[in-house]
Amino acid sequence: MKTLQELTRPNIWRLKPYSSARDEYNGVAASVFLDANENPYNMPHNRYPDPMQRELKKELSKIKKISPEHIFLGNGSDEAIDLVYRAFCEPQIDNVVAIDPTYGMYQICAEVNDVEYRKVLLDENFCFSADKLLETADEHTKLIFLCSPNNPTGNDLLRSEIEKLICGFNGLVVLDEAYNDFSEAPSFLENLGKYPNLILLQTFSKAWGCAAIRLGMAFASPQVIGILSKIKYPYNVNELTQKQAMEMLHRYYEIERWVKTLKEAREDLETEFAALPCTVKLFPSDANFFLVRVTDAVNIYNYLVGEGIIVRNRNSVSLCGNCLRVTVGTRMENEILIEALKKYR
Ligand SMILES: *Cc1c(COP(=O)(O)O)cnc(C)c1O
Repeated sequence: MKTLQELTRPNIWRLKPYSSARDEYNGVAASVFLDANENPYNMPHNRYPDPMQRELKKELSKIKKISPEHIFLGNGSDEAIDLVYRAFCEPQIDNVVAIDPTYGMYQICAEVNDVEYRKVLLDENFCFSADKLLETADEHTKLIFLCSPNNPTGNDLLRSEIEKLICGFNGLVVLDEAYNDFSEAPSFLENLGKYPNLILLQTFSKAWGCAAIRLGMAFASPQVIGILSKIKYPYNVNELTQKQAMEMLHRYYEIERWVKTLKEAREDLETEFAALPCTVKLFPSDANFFLVRVTDAVNIYNYLVGEGIIVRNRNSVSLCGNCLRVTVGTRMENEILIEALKKYR
């Protein structure tokens, strides 16, 4: 097994992070702050936020039942995705492996960071094979990306296959659980201690209803979290976001209610879709959206746009020919969509 030092880019391993004013003084007893060149007026927006989000991580650790040193918070999960490339992948030398189709940002970040991105096609049921991914990896593969439930296919990946991959890979596995709140499958969070090479991604953007505040979570060993934390922008999570997230953590019951409502609405919406003449195949979903193969995705997509209804056209994505991805909305929104599709000729 490679050590974390062997997996990390040498310049990053050596890096001593920028130390901000708020890093050097982080007590709470002082009342006069003349260290950060802030404007003393315009409270409360005049002060820099806590660069390590200590209070927020402490509250989050209670809900997630994992200690704060296992938690990284970023400007959306997208920040964590970019940071794992910058921390572990030497441009033009290292590569990553990922399932295909999946969330587009893994490939975008690979291209931005000039890192080779190797895709391994899922099978016709959107299942992956750990052996195929491992065969595609070589000594320069630093990361393997998995997403479960997967976007845009909507299905959970098989747990035993994920475990096989984590155990068999001589590098870091990034498992994106953005939609895990909607799934019956338990999160891998409780197994984090067992897998030092696992990085889990979750987000406030979906079940938590907070896409606007841009807050993503990564969970990993304290050593991996330490590396991500030292290369992030010092104040990557702004004060308004930290405040709003704290409020959401105190209203966790509401999130659980939303999830229940959305799962019931998804089932009803799927039943309606199954009866539509334009539906060719409905794919089973463990998320707050589902993929559906229709008779003519491009025309139906354009027809819906004309009706003021936007779904996601996935027609040009691997294995998703003539497929639309439909997010579950309110009862009213779902009804408007179904009524429009009933009228489609
Ligand atoms: C929506 C989504 C995210 C969330 O990204 P944020 O930057 O946290 O909003 C992450 N991964 C997947 C697969 C997604 O679909």
